[in-house]
Amino acid sequence: MATRKTVEELRALYRAIRSRSEAVDSAVFDAAVKALNPKTPAGFVKAAQRVTFPCRRCAGSGEFVTMMVNGKPTGPGGICFRCGGKGAQNDADAKRNRYFDEHFAGMYH
Ligand SMILES: [Zn+2]
Repeated sequence: MATRKTVEELRALYRAIRSRSEAVDSAVFDAAVKALNPKTPAGFVKAAQRVTFPCRRCAGSGEFVTMMVNGKPTGPGGICFRCGGKGAQNDADAKRNRYFDEHFAGMYH
């Protein structure tokens, strides 16, 4: 039997999702979640998992970027590994990327 999460646990989960999202800041994230019109704390968490934001790694282009030149992303092309070429990330992407950063980032940067 699944135990119901308390409101406090749901709020903590919401904050965790928000902190790893690609949203520019918390207000932007909250506004996107509220636009989905959630009614309950659990609804807020579900909405938080669904919202997507432009991928900051590829500036929303979905293409692999190696460097910025005069503010424009340039690179050899290919698919952005952060968002899988979608140009946007949801919480599943953010989670996968955070795992990657925590375990492998030192090998590539
Ligand atoms: Zn991307």
